[in-house]
Amino acid sequence: MNPRVSKWKTGMIKVAPGVYAYVQTGGWFINNAGLIVGKKDAIVVDSLANAKMAKRFISEIKKITDKPLSYLINTHHHTDHTWTNYLFPAKTICHTRCREETVKEMNMDPSLYLEIFPGLDVTGAKVTLQDITFEKELTIYQEMDGSEREIKLIYAGPAHTVSDVFVYLPEERVIFCGDLLFSEPCTPFALMGSISGYVSALDRLADLDVRVYVPGHGPLSKREALCKARGYLAFVQEEAHKKFEDGIKAYDAVRTIDLGVYKRWNERERIVGNIERAYSEFRGEPPGTELPNFLDIMIKMMEYRRELEI
Ligand SMILES: [Zn+2]
Repeated sequence: MNPRVSKWKTGMIKVAPGVYAYVQTGGWFINNAGLIVGKKDAIVVDSLANAKMAKRFISEIKKITDKPLSYLINTHHHTDHTWTNYLFPAKTICHTRCREETVKEMNMDPSLYLEIFPGLDVTGAKVTLQDITFEKELTIYQEMDGSEREIKLIYAGPAHTVSDVFVYLPEERVIFCGDLLFSEPCTPFALMGSISGYVSALDRLADLDVRVYVPGHGPLSKREALCKARGYLAFVQEEAHKKFEDGIKAYDAVRTIDLGVYKRWNERERIVGNIERAYSEFRGEPPGTELPNFLDIMIKMMEYRRELEI
């Protein structure tokens, strides 16, 4: 049985003056977002998977500010973070590779996702292209009363995907991590990125002087949550390596690995995708979504989820 731990609540949480995390409880496609309010404008970090979620987030934003939204930052291309971009009247900013991946999604009807995720609410889900891209780093200077706020967008990929950026507020010591951080009890997911890159990205985030890490999924976090996510990924890498060396197929390896403490985490079926990514890395392949059996892996992962639920 999957214990489905969900001890955190959906809602807006103030993490610094004018800086808010919008946290949602749940698993697949239920992500967190952010709001950064300045003197003349407000900036949003990530949109949400469907219109219902986005509207709830927007109504929470309206309780805090009526300032125009200037920018919407996409931390990466995954559809839970981008599908309702169009509901936020702002210029969208993301990494170059995020836009490239979004272009690939343009011809895909969101309802196709239902084949893998039955029951997923895709009402109002729509792919729209971002307006502004950057490569390594971009800083937004947001006007404040008598000062300015530095908002640094920094590329940290490939990690969770090939397009991950984090949003760092050095003065407030806050980071919006996007899916560079799945905090306990959410299981990290690396199928579309790189396990070793993910570990390095988490090390990089842990090295910064930060009070609050806003994860892409899961409750608000301190550095400890980064260590736990890193521990999981290092564990997957090590276990997968043994099986790979023994010539065991990736999907068969899933059943021979004892997840130990990680058994209590949610979405533990992600081990299927994570091992596939680890194997791909051992074969020296590049990170990304181009695995030849990508769809098959996703289907097997969700089959394994159902198996765990029985
Ligand atoms: Zn996500």
